[in-house]
Amino acid sequence: MTQPNPFKPVVLCLSGHDPSGGAGLQADIEALIAQGCHAAPTVTALTVQDTVDVSDFRVLDREWVLAQANKVISDMPVSAVKLGMLGSVEMADTVLELMLRLPNVPLVCDPVLRAGGGGSLGKDDVGFAIRERLFPVAAIATPNLPEARILAELPDGSADECAAKLLPHIRHLLITGGHGDEAEIHNRLYCADGSQHDFTCPRLPGSYHGSGCTLASTLAGRLALGEELVSAVRSSLDYTWRTLRDAEQPGHGQYVPRRL
Ligand code: PLP
Repeated sequence: MTQPNPFKPVVLCLSGHDPSGGAGLQADIEALIAQGCHAAPTVTALTVQDTVDVSDFRVLDREWVLAQANKVISDMPVSAVKLGMLGSVEMADTVLELMLRLPNVPLVCDPVLRAGGGGSLGKDDVGFAIRERLFPVAAIATPNLPEARILAELPDGSADECAAKLLPHIRHLLITGGHGDEAEIHNRLYCADGSQHDFTCPRLPGSYHGSGCTLASTLAGRLALGEELVSAVRSSLDYTWRTLRDAEQPGHGQYVPRRL
């Protein structure tokens, strides 16, 4: 008799769609497959973009997002939730409403406000709504330093200063350092219990489209698999670095991580 397929943890992804395939839901799906998880993608927004930059986006109606995610939640055991682009303040409330149905499920929050090319994927108010409403129910948020500065309202703040301002809102904060220009990248994990963990890696040449999505969805997958948080952060950073080292340039713009 054939054995049933081994159980793959389900990760509910609430993110935008990037038609170039480098970031957004496609990044989530690929990264989660690579971890041995099942991605359940709920579309929050559609974007018009290529590997150079975003030219437009449209946020879906709240009812459509609730309907998509509620179907999945009623059908499958969700082991983790990954948030990417939300696009509007209302979408932050919509996600909070969904999380009430998933009380002990770890939520990984990637506070997406800009594309790699600099184009907007949401006003700063969306970031503030994520901070006020979703950080308190999240296991971890994964802003890069420019995003952390927006969320902390400290335009020139260091990672430590931003973390001090944001930690009262959230249990764990991973501030990534990829957007600077130092030869060595410093990624810093701050925990509400006062502990801190630093992870360094060599900077790779080039700029990448979908690196933040890859990191956050990998982390959600690792937590869904039951990995402890600090270890999950380390293995997600390592995996993401390898996808960037092996990245390809499918268009005329940024490199796309090779996730599979
Ligand atoms: N989510 C969507 C839908 C996007 O289009 C983008 C970037 O274009 C992002 C997230 C963020 O991408 P990155 O992982 O490069 O920060």
